[in-house]
Amino acid sequence: MSESSFDTKVVHHKLDQQQVPNSKSTPIYQTSAFTFKDLDHLESYYEGDSPYLYTRERNPNTDELSGTVAQLEEAPAGVATSSGMSAILAGILSVAKPGDHIIAAEDLYGGTHKLITKELSTFGIDVTMVSFAELEEVEEAVQENTRLLYTESISNPFLRVEDLAGLVKLAKEKGLKTMVDNTFATPYLLQPYTSGIDLVVHSGTKYIGGHSDVTCGVLVGDQMLVQEATSKVVTLGANLSPFEAWLTQRGAKTLGLRMKQQSTNAEQVAKALKKHAGVRTVYYPEYVSDRGHGAIVTIELDEKVNVETFFQSLGWIKIAPTLAGVETTISYPVRTSHRALSEKEKENIGINDYVIRLSIGIEDSEDIINQLTLAIEA
Ligand SMILES: *Cc1c(COP(=O)(O)O)cnc(C)c1O
Repeated sequence: MSESSFDTKVVHHKLDQQQVPNSKSTPIYQTSAFTFKDLDHLESYYEGDSPYLYTRERNPNTDELSGTVAQLEEAPAGVATSSGMSAILAGILSVAKPGDHIIAAEDLYGGTHKLITKELSTFGIDVTMVSFAELEEVEEAVQENTRLLYTESISNPFLRVEDLAGLVKLAKEKGLKTMVDNTFATPYLLQPYTSGIDLVVHSGTKYIGGHSDVTCGVLVGDQMLVQEATSKVVTLGANLSPFEAWLTQRGAKTLGLRMKQQSTNAEQVAKALKKHAGVRTVYYPEYVSDRGHGAIVTIELDEKVNVETFFQSLGWIKIAPTLAGVETTISYPVRTSHRALSEKEKENIGINDYVIRLSIGIEDSEDIINQLTLAIEA
């Protein structure tokens, strides 16, 4: 570098590559591309011996995250994406082509509902939405061009736990693929791939990240399908940024601890609210897994509770149109996640002005119960 002028030196000075330390935490590979020392090295990328060329295609941070989630789900492959939505789209497109048909559960997350009902037709994919509570209804909806069954392991907001074994059996009989959104359960509670589900998707924005500071998605499952989905992610530019992958990976380290505490807290909250006269119905799964039953509690307030006053009296429990952070938050499906649904659709799945979804955090369970009780009684 001794011959170089100021302007060259300032661009090219770098830490001596021999001196790069073994850092305890994975560095953030905040780079759009990777360099090659010679043409043999470049060639080794195309021969598959050197994995990284261009971050939109592949990056160590996104690989670390998708690898972690795949391992937790006991699936052979995974890909990290820019959001839960893009992971869902890539997963569906890896199975369904123009002219194909898919069957989806009618009680899906609002965004997924919109994707499936409003966008898939532009890809030439037909959809039928039915209740997955009765698998006969799913079976009746199967057509000659049906390729995929799509549902959520724990539904939103009423927390219906899917019969994954039944679904896999039906799909095998009919020669269909299955895809499950496992966001609410997380692999700590359920591992749908181990039950025979082909593709498992997560909004990493929720429990995997766990700290409400990142938007991301992860799709894991069957090797060939994930490879196909990865190709879509790369070409459509739905890749996750290295920093967001790093943040999500950092959050994921405490997934087990958080889910344990949050599920235990949720169970306590559900139990306490069931006894309260201001609460008409408490929706909380009877059983999800031996490790717990999830951290979302949905309630339908009694008509004598003033909903406006309730929302004004929540103290440190914030109204937030999301879930799964370490803080307890509350959401109002009729005004947020399910806003886009027609009155008829809302009525069909039971969403009304008194339905409230609680995402239980890691705080002290007594404090959460006290704060909610104060708001109900306000
Ligand atoms: C949030 C969420 C999504 C969408 O994920 P984004 O990361 O917001 O794109 C999909 N499914 C479920 C169950 C969710 O909760």
